[in-house]
Amino acid sequence: MNVARPVIIAGNWKMNTTPATAGGLAADIAAATKVEGVTRVICSPYVCLRAVREALQGTDVEVGAQNVHAEQAGAYTGEISAQMLVGLADWSIVGHSERRRDQGEDDVLVAHKIVRCLEAGLRPILCVGEQLEEREQGRAESTVRSQLEATIAEVRRLGRDLPADLVIAYEPVWAIGTGRTARGSDAATMAQAIRKVLTESDIDAESIPVLYGGSVTSAAIDEFLNEPDIDGALVGGASLKIDEMAGIVARAGMTAQARSSATAGAA
Ligand code: PEP
Repeated sequence: MNVARPVIIAGNWKMNTTPATAGGLAADIAAATKVEGVTRVICSPYVCLRAVREALQGTDVEVGAQNVHAEQAGAYTGEISAQMLVGLADWSIVGHSERRRDQGEDDVLVAHKIVRCLEAGLRPILCVGEQLEEREQGRAESTVRSQLEATIAEVRRLGRDLPADLVIAYEPVWAIGTGRTARGSDAATMAQAIRKVLTESDIDAESIPVLYGGSVTSAAIDEFLNEPDIDGALVGGASLKIDEMAGIVARAGMTAQARSSATAGAA
């Protein structure tokens, strides 16, 4: 690896916490994860964003949303647009497998969400990943390839390109919330496949961080961060636990330090 990509640990709180509890948890996580060289992001529920943002003032922990609507504005009762998040969040997850599963979101819709993030200045974390059946049938890579190709094609059809600050999270669906993780080597192979698709699409793949997500804990993070192609993690369940986040970010700090020394040595 000849480009120093940031090491990123993003927490996805999903539908947990309330405006009354979120600020305290965010502040505790920020205090327990003060580690040099690691970009930390907390993606809270919409209604908790203000509390989280206020609690994180004076820290360098960034705030993310978990989704944006595919349209700019309009008659979409109960939905939240990217523009509504300006000032509340710096990042947003898009295409999380729970939304693909529960709301039927597909790659075309996800591409629209990426464009909405671009317009609003939100940094997208694009989630891709295969189902268990697809992995068992040897179709894991082709599934992720097709998700990425379809997303890139639609973003371009809309007259834009993938944002330069895009982050991709490889999240095998069978590993999310199941306690079962991918093997580090399989995740690394997928990260390489992802970068191959980006390169084939004339995108500077080496500068785009690829995270692993799927039942990451402080005990399980090691084998992913040992892989030079993996630049951090999108953490679900464990991101609600202060001790878990402390362990995960501490391990990520070691990776960040090792990578920055290697880059300095190579320069
Ligand atoms: C996620 O929500 O993206 C996720 C990976 O969840 P978990 O860590 O709980 O598997």
